[in-house]
Amino acid sequence: MKRIETVEISQSGSTNTTCPYCGVGCGVTVSTGGDNDVRVKGDKAHPANYGRLCVKGSALDETLSAGNRLLRPKVNGEDVSWEQALAYSSGKLKSIIEQYGPDSVAFYLSGQLLTEDYYVANKLMKGFIGSANVDTNSRLCMSSAVAAHKRAFGGDLVPGCYEDIELADFLLIVGSNTAYAHPIVFQRIAKAKKENPNLTVVVVDPRRTATCEIADIHLPIKPGSDGFFFNGLLSFIADNGCIDDEFVHQHTDGFAAALAQAKLQVPDTKSASQACDVDEDVLRQVYNYFVATDRVVTIFSQGINQSTSGCDKGNAIINCHLATGKIGKPGAAPFSITGQPNAMGGREVGGLANQLAAHMSFDVPHHVRLVEAFWQAPNMAEKEGLKAVDMFQAVNDGKIKAIWIMATNPVVSMPSADFVRTALEKCELVIVSDCVDNGDTTKTADVLFPAQGWGEKQGTATNSERCISFQKSFLKPMGEAKPDWEIISLMAQHLGFRDGFSYNHPVDIFREHARLSGFENDGQRGFDISALENITREEYETLKPTQWPITQSSPTGTQRLFGDGQFFTPSRKAQFIPIAARYPAESPTSDQLIMNTGRIRDQWHTMTRTGKASRLLSHVDEPYVQINPVDAKRFNVTANSIAHLKNHNGEFFGRVKVSTDQRQGDIFSPIHWNSAFASSSRVGALVSSNVDPVGGQPEFKHCPVSLEAFTPSVEGFCLIANDLSGSWTPAVDYWVKVTLISGTKYILANKGVDGCSIGDFKAAFPQVESWVDMSLSSGVAARAAGFIGNQLKVVVVLDSQVDKLMDSTWLESKLETEVETDIRYQLLAGSPGDGASAPGKIICSCFQVGENQIKSAIEEGCASVESLGENLKCGTNCGSCIPEIQQLIPG
Ligand code: SF4
Repeated sequence: MKRIETVEISQSGSTNTTCPYCGVGCGVTVSTGGDNDVRVKGDKAHPANYGRLCVKGSALDETLSAGNRLLRPKVNGEDVSWEQALAYSSGKLKSIIEQYGPDSVAFYLSGQLLTEDYYVANKLMKGFIGSANVDTNSRLCMSSAVAAHKRAFGGDLVPGCYEDIELADFLLIVGSNTAYAHPIVFQRIAKAKKENPNLTVVVVDPRRTATCEIADIHLPIKPGSDGFFFNGLLSFIADNGCIDDEFVHQHTDGFAAALAQAKLQVPDTKSASQACDVDEDVLRQVYNYFVATDRVVTIFSQGINQSTSGCDKGNAIINCHLATGKIGKPGAAPFSITGQPNAMGGREVGGLANQLAAHMSFDVPHHVRLVEAFWQAPNMAEKEGLKAVDMFQAVNDGKIKAIWIMATNPVVSMPSADFVRTALEKCELVIVSDCVDNGDTTKTADVLFPAQGWGEKQGTATNSERCISFQKSFLKPMGEAKPDWEIISLMAQHLGFRDGFSYNHPVDIFREHARLSGFENDGQRGFDISALENITREEYETLKPTQWPITQSSPTGTQRLFGDGQFFTPSRKAQFIPIAARYPAESPTSDQLIMNTGRIRDQWHTMTRTGKASRLLSHVDEPYVQINPVDAKRFNVTANSIAHLKNHNGEFFGRVKVSTDQRQGDIFSPIHWNSAFASSSRVGALVSSNVDPVGGQPEFKHCPVSLEAFTPSVEGFCLIANDLSGSWTPAVDYWVKVTLISGTKYILANKGVDGCSIGDFKAAFPQVESWVDMSLSSGVAARAAGFIGNQLKVVVVLDSQVDKLMDSTWLESKLETEVETDIRYQLLAGSPGDGASAPGKIICSCFQVGENQIKSAIEEGCASVESLGENLKCGTNCGSCIPEIQQLIPG
């Protein structure tokens, strides 16, 4: 067990809860005891992960410390009481609503909220304030799939379950780097592949990702051509007599029109291969797998969703499953894997601006009246509100005068992120509820509400397979933090809506939510958990993971949907949607590249939590730009140099990685870095605000950018012990902050030498009592180590090029240790001098095993992941690094 500084446990023993990161929704068992010791491991009984956790989940305990926590309410930068903060913000909100009407205010929510938080926020805005200006960061993640599900199935309904992945004989993974974004789903696939020799895996992705390590075929299609790929597949299905006529006739509408449209655009494999820019024979082989296999699961995620035609792409996938009847059966489903931990829970309660609660819709007038009656709502919204991109545009235009942002960081994560920051800076009232006080968005806030974090709050979340799990508390709340549902309820009461918001515990909200799901439902709506409407508090707090629908006829839940061929459209039949596939909205000019964006393995969203764990920054510690060697040459950048990306929206700096995994003409950059961790590496700043016309999801996967080399005169790093780190940031052109166990590392680069000499760093740390330093023969190269007493507190290493810098691993381990005077100069050599080599880039974060160590072991005879695990332990804990270990093994 580990003692977590500044954390107070609320109970000793074992607590089963749920991981707060991705949509896999893994169960976590937390052991607490003794001196505020906390240990996490996978919950063996949870059906999402059966005891496994990825590296992010297994490092959850390392992210709990106080660090950057927001502990007290603030108004205009001053600490105030809760009563003062609520009185101030409710007063401002009331006066804005009175003067400009309900549509002058908005809530921007998050897939990180629990369902109960989401429910209350949605109820307050749509039923009591009287506007539907409630949207969420799920708009950036899932809204295309939501719209596709609604068009095809009559509801936002995911047909399958994780077990289907294991029962399939053909897995088509499209637009998903499952190995990084959903690691435990990937591990389930890898295990299934090992155990089932009939299982074929094909990855369709412009980029060769870690997921391709288990693929039989990787099809590197042209970016954004997925709709053409699936229209081509529908034509192929028809041409080869593979339509399930009985299913199509009895259970679907609109097949002829969808096929006609597909045939018109992509009549054969030749036109499909041209549209997707892939080899025709390989494409035909993939199409053949689809038609020749009964048990087919198509996994899709952000590569499909984050597109100006994301909704159509989702329906193009569903069309192929409907045409072949590969839905509603074990091992057969189109399967949208959710990005966020509770994106689905948020949708259940109507967290999107175009939804009502309990999967009801504004476009059904009866639904509006039904929700109004159930809530006894005094000011029911009658029409859809503004979706995320339009919402921030309205903030900029002054139409929205007050916005309340909860548990999300739009100044980093939204497209046109610089525009979003400017819009918020000029907004009359910005309220932010968050756990942290140093987010890019919290800096724009007039009012800050401290929210409880993971381990402190309680409630439910729903994962990708419709499974509701309980997130249970085991820590005392830090400072004056409150759960989001309570903050929203208190605000509602201050606004004068006491009756609708007098909840005492989240179970009160959950019961109401469950009751509404069954209210005048009669089998009309797929989302129904009415069997839980009388759940007791004890039952709620020990709720076993259960997949909805949960009704009187299926009280223990429902594993998969549509097995009876019944859908939730008016005709009870699934709907084919004719798709005219489209390429992305913006094309690059001849001197631009297409930037694709996405997640890396060990970070979550904007790093406000995972950036606190040194282990999670040892795999990738710097924002980067992955580029094909031909483009690297063309744009005059080399491996490890710094690329400067620019377009009309903003700019981004990142370390260059040259790789043939990237198609020519395309680059990839990660989404995570915020302004606390890098000088200018918020990828959202480059992304345009082009959105899907149906789902409103922005096109994060296709951003034309120009690239030029950033050529510094000085590069280096600075290691600083924890007690000196404070809020210091280097005054250089490019810096990246890396959390270490005993301090902080800054990676540095500067155009000129002024401001980036050893003297400048000495001046920045006047607390240091003594220094040793040396200048090397070549120009700017110099090293220095600073001490307080005998303790090493600061190390600065500078040179003209990054490749000339020493590995910092050994020096990092010496921070805050005692170093006697006579051996201090040895530090400036950067290694212990005993011949031991540096571990190299960390591959296995759990056991800190580096690339050099793995390569040495391979040279010494380890020829498999298993033997490397036996020798070095790498890959034997969470398994997230196994695809990369596999890549290092020759053959
Ligand atoms: Fe958490 Fe990893 Fe499981 Fe996702 S896969 S829920 S991040 S443990």
